[in-house]
Amino acid sequence: RQLNIEELLEGLNDQQRAAVEHRGAPLLVVAGAGSGKTRVLTRRIAYLLGVGGATPGEILAITFTNKAAAEMKERVAELVGARARSMWVSTFHSMCVRILRNEATHLGYKSTFTIYDSADSQRLVALVAADLDLDSKRFPARSLAAQISNLKNELLDPATAAERADSDIAKVVAEVYAGYQARLKAASALDFDDLIMETVALLQVFPAVAEHYRRRFRHVLVDEYQDTNHAQYTLVKELVGGAHDAREVRAADGELVRAATSSIPAAELVVVGDADQSIYAFRGANIRNIVEFERDYPSARTILLEQNYRSTQTILSAANAVISRNPERRAKNLWTAAGNGEMIVGYVADNEHDEAAFVTKEIDRLVDEGSIRFGDVAVFYRTNSSSRAFEDVFVRMGMPYKIVGGVRFYERKEVRDALAYLRALANPADEVSLRRILNTPKRGIGDRAEAALAVYSQKEKVPFAQALASVADIPFIATRSVKAISGFNEMMDLLRADLDGGAEPADLLTSVLEKSGYTELLEISSDPQDASRLENLEQLVTVLRERVEILQGGEENFAAGAPLLAAVLEQLSLVADADSIPDSEAGMVTMMTLHTAKGLEFPVVFLIGWEDGLFPHMRALADDKELAEERRLAYVGITRSRERLYISRAVTRSTWGQPGANPASRFIQDIPEELVDWQRLAEAPDYGSGSQSWYGGGGSRSAPVSAGRFSSSGGFSGSGSSFGSGTGGSQYGESAQSRLAATGTKSTGRTGWQNSATLALAVGDRVSHDKYGLGTVIASEGVGVRATATIDFGAAGKIRLMLIGGVPLTKL
Ligand code: ATP
Ligand code: MG
Repeated sequence: RQLNIEELLEGLNDQQRAAVEHRGAPLLVVAGAGSGKTRVLTRRIAYLLGVGGATPGEILAITFTNKAAAEMKERVAELVGARARSMWVSTFHSMCVRILRNEATHLGYKSTFTIYDSADSQRLVALVAADLDLDSKRFPARSLAAQISNLKNELLDPATAAERADSDIAKVVAEVYAGYQARLKAASALDFDDLIMETVALLQVFPAVAEHYRRRFRHVLVDEYQDTNHAQYTLVKELVGGAHDAREVRAADGELVRAATSSIPAAELVVVGDADQSIYAFRGANIRNIVEFERDYPSARTILLEQNYRSTQTILSAANAVISRNPERRAKNLWTAAGNGEMIVGYVADNEHDEAAFVTKEIDRLVDEGSIRFGDVAVFYRTNSSSRAFEDVFVRMGMPYKIVGGVRFYERKEVRDALAYLRALANPADEVSLRRILNTPKRGIGDRAEAALAVYSQKEKVPFAQALASVADIPFIATRSVKAISGFNEMMDLLRADLDGGAEPADLLTSVLEKSGYTELLEISSDPQDASRLENLEQLVTVLRERVEILQGGEENFAAGAPLLAAVLEQLSLVADADSIPDSEAGMVTMMTLHTAKGLEFPVVFLIGWEDGLFPHMRALADDKELAEERRLAYVGITRSRERLYISRAVTRSTWGQPGANPASRFIQDIPEELVDWQRLAEAPDYGSGSQSWYGGGGSRSAPVSAGRFSSSGGFSGSGSSFGSGTGGSQYGESAQSRLAATGTKSTGRTGWQNSATLALAVGDRVSHDKYGLGTVIASEGVGVRATATIDFGAAGKIRLMLIGGVPLTKL
């Protein structure tokens, strides 16, 4: 196709155009949300290809999620055609996997290495800590794993960590770190942080390897640069090379590993970012990388973008008002030509159910008006646990929705078990996976047998798999267990023979589930959740088929059997949260955490749970740095919205089963009053002393009722992991999943709930519920859409239900 240069530059403003056309020196594009940073990167790639400034193979673009990478690749392909395929557009992690798989032998890993996700690595840390006889209360695996991760993000190896350890705890961490690394290596496994750290080591220690990639990638482009951590920053520097590479690298003994010069000129580097959107400090992200770009790359040019193309002026003004209160920040003049648009809608709910009902009603109204589709709407929350109340109401009302992140498909137990089987088959050295499936489903191999195997493997210095094979020679294993283990070995041998015979991953999984008895167990079970577990496993078989298809359509070829299986497993372990948004399902409301929302945009956005203690998060209330990060998160949230923005909070909210009162988020106060149309205010504030509750007036904010509640519930302790796959999500684990599975991905039949009458119930009434059975009303509150009743269902417990139409409840 003949490319027209003007076409490639069309629809860009002067600064965007300058960034696209810029050549030579490193370029930093800093700009607020929605100003076209990502668009600049996409266009720049198309432009370089269009004017012959680069071949597709010379381009390396790094995005924050795999979804963003796929989108970018697709956009470039739209502009320049199919040759865009051989570009590398990926996340840091995917890129590193690709490099490491090619070069693994240099580092002593097999090229079929396994990738441990955070749950796997936590398990391994727990094993190491147990070996060291550490008290798991004083040194919880989760916290040890987090500290090891921090060290890796700073590129500190175990030896250096031990050297620098200045406290008893740091010494313990360093010791666990060393044991953990040894075990990873023995299992030929890498964790997420290793992917980056080992790639950096590879490039620093093997000049020929570094040279190879530097010759190849003449253009390096990085999106969301404000969220790079030190390891990622160093990686970019190593890949770019050239004059910035004027450092020597010495091994621990002082020997010169690499001289300071490089014959290849530096690659052209373009990074884009926004310091106001840095929200991953807990993963070691460092705004410094953006603030000091010009110092790190002295010849750098900086371009500022000031026009926002995403949002209305009202939305931008609110975002600016919130973020401008952060100290030590460069002020920006973000403006939009879009006009004021709709006012922000505020809503103060009595409780979280009421909040969910309001959002549901509002979405219904907008859709009925014909102005939007369900897929145009997103609901963002600070912690995963907030989605629960929404799920309840959405399911009841037949609102089509999907949850991104949180209880992810790949975090479900049955899915993880199945994948562990496949991993153990692809890589017999993978100890964590082997031990996970050894007695799953239960086959009579107890903890003691497992421990004996582990001791044998340690003492004889043989892999765990070999200990399994030599089970007959190991003392202290009961005959019954020996038999069970032999049976397990036989099964694995059969499966491995299937694999070596070239079995497709999907077919292999089917035999795994059959031979292991996993399917049978679920089939005969009377637990309704097991039915949805079966469905999930079925879905996994489908996923494997799809993945193989995608892989086989790609540029690389994988031999049937283990290499293909390893490639598929690797892809699955890299599926980031945002990737689970299926593009074809444009007709569903999207729910996700604020962290996952970065880079995305939606016509209608609901920001829920704006309450001090929830958002900003409890632990940020007394910590200025954390509070600044929360404020950036608010800025990210507000700026996802294109046309309509809703902000809501609940006067009371149950967290971890305990109801409590929350004052309004301090961020609400920061938004100028004239921008917000409060559709409902708190009726009877049950905290503070008669102050205007919707603004959470001064003194009431620190009302003891809220402080006491949070500390007693203990639900908000922990560092940075209450979103994503951490505590917040897992608390609701299986139940939320089964609900998701039950709704399926189809839009369920909708109830015209605005019209249906609410149920009037009084204390003492007898009722029958489709799911919970017979019960007696023990309390009732509120009227109309806010009516709720607490019902004693006997064995099913005391449950509080909303009495809006559609609830499967009958008064007897
Ligand atoms: P974020 O900081 O949230 O990542 P961003 O700076 O990357 O935002 P983009 O996502 O690239 O911004 O652009 C925001 C929206 O504005 C997109 O819908 C994009 O297509 C549109 N846009 C960007 N530049 C222009 C332009 N010059 N003309 C019209 N629309 C534009
Ligand atoms: Mg962007």
